[in-house]
Amino acid sequence: MKKTFNKNEIVEIAKEILHSLVANSSKLTASVLALSGDLGAGKTTLTQTIARELGIIENVISPTFVIMKRYKLKAKSYKLLIHIDAYRLNSHIELEKLGWAELIADPENLILIEWPERVPELIPEHAHRVNLSHKDDDTREIQVGLD
Ligand code: ADP
Ligand code: MG
Repeated sequence: MKKTFNKNEIVEIAKEILHSLVANSSKLTASVLALSGDLGAGKTTLTQTIARELGIIENVISPTFVIMKRYKLKAKSYKLLIHIDAYRLNSHIELEKLGWAELIADPENLILIEWPERVPELIPEHAHRVNLSHKDDDTREIQVGLD
């Protein structure tokens, strides 16, 4: 699936992605959304919109400097939203030290990771992949899946 969207349409996009994540979630591992795209493509904005859909009212800030932020959820689908920005990671070992193995093993976790190409070894096969790209000031393109 490939489509362009503007800011008014992000909520709709976020809902669709969330729906698909929940529908395809496994009982054995965390749900993972891998968000690719250049700086400013809208990865954090989409994460924030998904977080809001899941009832997070606090500000979801970009975890560029802290690498990882966790948000407790009251939603039925997941208990914890984990937002990771892998941009500054030099190696997947750094993410492993942050407890990746445990996070990925819990089916009640929803993991959203920006710059997944920085840690390809750690992105599971079942991850949902989206690619965002900049079209113009207000327009972005999203491609869901690899085909
Ligand atoms: P990234 O995390 O990919 O670096 P951000 O989400 O931090 O990108 O930044 C995207 C910027 O583009 C934000 O300032 C946002 O307001 C703006 N923007 C404009 N139109 C859109 C859109 N349709 N979708 C997402 N972001 C948009
Ligand atoms: Mg970002």
